[in-house]
Amino acid sequence: MQYYNSNTVIYVNGRFEKAEEMKTDLYGQSLHYGFAAFEGIRAYKTHNATRVFKIKEHYDRLQRSCELVNIPFPWDKNELIKQTYKLLELNNLKDAYIRPLVYCEPNMTLIAPQEASIMICAWEWGAYLGNKQLKVCVSPFQRPNPKSTFVEAKISGHYVNSILATTDAKSKGFDEALLLDMNENVAEAPGANIFIEKNGKLYTPSLGNILAGITRNTVIELCNVLDIEVIEKTISVAELKKADSAFFCGTATEIIGIHTIDDVVYKQKWNDSIGATIQRAYKNLVLEKVNYEVII
Ligand code: PMP
Repeated sequence: MQYYNSNTVIYVNGRFEKAEEMKTDLYGQSLHYGFAAFEGIRAYKTHNATRVFKIKEHYDRLQRSCELVNIPFPWDKNELIKQTYKLLELNNLKDAYIRPLVYCEPNMTLIAPQEASIMICAWEWGAYLGNKQLKVCVSPFQRPNPKSTFVEAKISGHYVNSILATTDAKSKGFDEALLLDMNENVAEAPGANIFIEKNGKLYTPSLGNILAGITRNTVIELCNVLDIEVIEKTISVAELKKADSAFFCGTATEIIGIHTIDDVVYKQKWNDSIGATIQRAYKNLVLEKVNYEVII
């Protein structure tokens, strides 16, 4: 995967620079300790124009992530939104993945810094929104304990846990992992939230031990619009495996059906599941074919 070429520009601390020419300091606290915050955002080419989906929510979460762990966040979010659109324009990107990262300067101590930098980069990412379904395994790795970190913050260091889980799942022949929380209940995927369907209702793990996904929230909003009952609760592995169907959701993942969990195959056909309905509604929403925003 080539993320940039000699023409690519990135946004760094208020300026647009050639990606190729930018450097990072090898004594940075972010590099050594994973002390940085980031976002994953999607832009879609819609019939109106290129639109960045829920951009405000993503920059709000970036600020909140920084505040939770005491990384300074001195930037004006409206300005960041404006510059994000400019970044897409400068790189001639329409369907894209956008990655803002707040990172810390040279500092080998374990004390949160007084200053931070922000960079925003983007690369082409075609809309997928397809029908593939995943073979998933319950990971031997748990999500970080909320008493050891702020799990609701999107902090770089947390993704060591995600890399371990995905790598382990793939090495066993699965497409993706599902991680449990510290009580061995269902938490989330390495980079996505989960919903299960049982008897015509959707269930998703309550907030507390998971990242509060923006897509998870969108799914809940869509359920309200579509009159689908959705319940946030603790979900055991037994409930997960007895569900009729299940899906992951996330900015990058969008909505993707789960075919199997370990050796359990979901009986319901994906096309007949609530997940498939949500998948279609989500696609219409991000592509602005239906403007649920006015209803929500
Ligand atoms: N959980 C984790 C651990 C994630 O990294 C992500 C991706 N940001 C999600 C859930 C889904 O969040 P969102 O819908 O905001 O992309």
